[in-house]
Amino acid sequence: MKTILSVLFLFSAWYCSAQDKIPHDVIPTNDGDLTIYFVGHGTLMFKYHDLIIHADASSREADYSQMPDADLILVTHHHGDHFDPEAIDKIRTENTTIILNGRSSDEAPDLEGKVVLKNGEKTEYKGILIEAVPAYNLVHMRSEGNPYHPKGEGNGYVVTFGDKRVFIAGDTENTPEMKALKNIDIAFLPMNLPYTMTPEMVADAIIGFRPDIFYPYHYGSTDPQLVVDLLKDENDIEVRVRDMP
Ligand code: ZN
Ligand code: ZN
Repeated sequence: MKTILSVLFLFSAWYCSAQDKIPHDVIPTNDGDLTIYFVGHGTLMFKYHDLIIHADASSREADYSQMPDADLILVTHHHGDHFDPEAIDKIRTENTTIILNGRSSDEAPDLEGKVVLKNGEKTEYKGILIEAVPAYNLVHMRSEGNPYHPKGEGNGYVVTFGDKRVFIAGDTENTPEMKALKNIDIAFLPMNLPYTMTPEMVADAIIGFRPDIFYPYHYGSTDPQLVVDLLKDENDIEVRVRDMP
């Protein structure tokens, strides 16, 4: 018995430290705390009630054999820094639901537990509303007429936890659909170049839909201080820079 207890103790200490080591913020909602873990680049994890939600799980950012099992996994699009079936294999259980865009689904036809969301569609998971927002380039092109992220392919997600709405933009620019978003409390917007936005485009989008808290993420070698400076007069918008290059 003593051995079992000490094994359990060691296991729980390991389990706690594995996720506590990841930098995180706690956001109070009207239905319990939401913990947001800043895994790196475009990769996030959320804990809400007893649910673990991974967003764009990628082995480039963490050792997923050390990460908590997923109740829900969100995938914005098929690029390797966002969709990583090997990372998913390490955190999935037989009960895991995977919400993804059509192209990612096409690339993993045998993935079990998947739900495809197209731009504009929504679904609910255990009381959490998930809405798919179009994510695409307006300006930045691989070659003429060939955007890095074509319209209609990738998703961003607005995820509602109690009374808090979190927008995970995915790889996108400052689209009219993004700027028309309403009641966003927390937003993650990308600005690595040339694939996504300049700091000016990010600032334009943020001023468009005015989240309470904005986290620059997926920023690569762009200095996040540039967007902090661009938004310095927007007193009702808090910009929080975390380590997410
Ligand atoms: Zn991408
Ligand atoms: Zn990306």
